[in-house]
This record gives sequence, structure tokens and C-alpha cells, in this order.
Amino acid sequence: MNSWSPTIPVIAVIGYKKTGKTTVIEGLVRKLTETGYAVATAKHIDHKGFTMDREGKDTWRHRVSGANPVIGVSDVETAVIYKDGLGGLTLRRLIRFTLEKDLLILEGFSKLVLEDETVGKIICVRTLEEYKEFRKRIRGETLAFCSLEPLGKPILSIRDDTSALIERVSNYLEKMKAILEIRSSLPNLDCGKCRYRRCWEMAKAIYDGKAKFDDCTVLKVGPRLKSRIMLNGAEVPIQPFVSEIVRRTVLGMISTLKGVKITGDERVHIEITSPRTA
Ligand code: SF4
Repeated sequence: MNSWSPTIPVIAVIGYKKTGKTTVIEGLVRKLTETGYAVATAKHIDHKGFTMDREGKDTWRHRVSGANPVIGVSDVETAVIYKDGLGGLTLRRLIRFTLEKDLLILEGFSKLVLEDETVGKIICVRTLEEYKEFRKRIRGETLAFCSLEPLGKPILSIRDDTSALIERVSNYLEKMKAILEIRSSLPNLDCGKCRYRRCWEMAKAIYDGKAKFDDCTVLKVGPRLKSRIMLNGAEVPIQPFVSEIVRRTVLGMISTLKGVKITGDERVHIEITSPRTA
């Protein structure tokens, strides 16, 4: 089970070579940045052994000496070169590179995202056969199938249906914003104690009106409890909502431990000792 889900919306534009993926991304990035989105993109480079580094250059020498990553900074750009490619790549890792962006658009990476339900997909196809093939393989939300060829509905034309594509993407981003907001109010423990496998799925169900916050087993035991924080013997004054956050977090963590059953009337005592005084 994948126990992590993205912290920002992710859209992947996938399809075989020369199907118009970059053209689609160009159009999306242009329109979305115009409307105020801070967009990050990632492109899967399909040339075996490709490197931005050059043998003999200073950055290359840093790398062969053992540095990883190597950061090259010029007056116009900063390049961070990690010496591990697609092999160890996860969506989580890619998102870490996006800093404080509003969304990440991927070009390629179909193996990474094709079955990932948290990623919205735009599929570029050349033929109806490709369309049928992808329909069978995809999981999660497909925002659009599109093509440079005139394949007819439901496949959008990359050249002529730009507004329709932008509209679908904008609606998806609004929805994802709401789902991520809901998820931030869940304990985010992915404990699997409710009927959903992950908090992400619970958030989606709440958004769709199929679940309520109360359906989260961890939250349900919460309101009957209070928490206080003692630091070196003195109570730290905290607002009720902070008390609530501490209680939910601690009980949430404990509830995932083997053999622990939270009933709502526990007294939890956690002692943290400095390693220097232990
Ligand atoms: S019970 Fe709550 S914390 Fe656990 S997976 Fe469900 S929503 Fe997440």
C-alpha cells in the first residue's frame, strides 16, 4: 500500500513519443502561470545515459569526488544535479524538488503515475487503438485524451480544443485544492482503521459527500479527551485548539501501535529526556 499522497496537485501528461505532450504542457503552463499559478514541471528524458553534466567540467569533478548532489549556480540559473536517476525515483521525491509551487506537471513518467490515483492524467494518443489501450491501463482521474490527429470525440484536438482542456484542468485544480484542504484536517496517519485505506481517500470521499469527518476512527475518539503539556514540571499555557491538535496527534500515533485500542479515557504520559542528561 502506498502510504503517501501528494501535498500539491500533480498532473501527468503521458503518451508515446511525438504525440504532442510538450505542446500540451507549453499551453497549460502558459495559461496557468498567467492566471497566477506557480507551476513546476518535470520531464522524463528518454535517452539512456543522458546527463546535464559534462565530463571534465568542475561540477563533474565535484561529483566524481563523491558529492551528491552537486549544485551549479550561474547569474541566470541554479542547477541541482543528483546522481541517481529514474531508478530510485518516487513521486514523493519529485515533489520535494518543487519547493512552494502550486502544482507539478509531469511529462512522461507513465510507469510512475499510470496507476496512481492521486495524479490527474492527460493522455496524448495518435490513434483510436492507443486510446483504447490507455483506457484499459489507467487508474485514477483522466482529465482528457487528446491528439494532434483529428480523431473526434471524446478525444480533444491539441490544436483546436485548448480552452476545453484548460477548463478541465482548472476544475481539477479547484477540486484538488479542496481535497487537500480536507486532508489537512484529518490526522494524516494512513492508519487504515476506517473503511478507507488512506486519509487521502477519506478526504476524497468527504469531498464527494460519501463520508464525514466523524468516519475517521482516530478523530472520533478525540473530542472526549483533553491534553496538557508540562515542560520541566511547569504547565505550558496553550489555546484549546492547540490542546486539541496535540491530543489528536499523540492519540493518533499511539492508536497505530500494535495491540493499542483507544477508548477515549486514557491518560498518556510521555517523557522526553535530553540525550546529554540521559
Ligand atoms: S481512520 Fe482517520 S487517520 Fe486512519 S486512515 Fe482513516 S481517515 Fe486516516
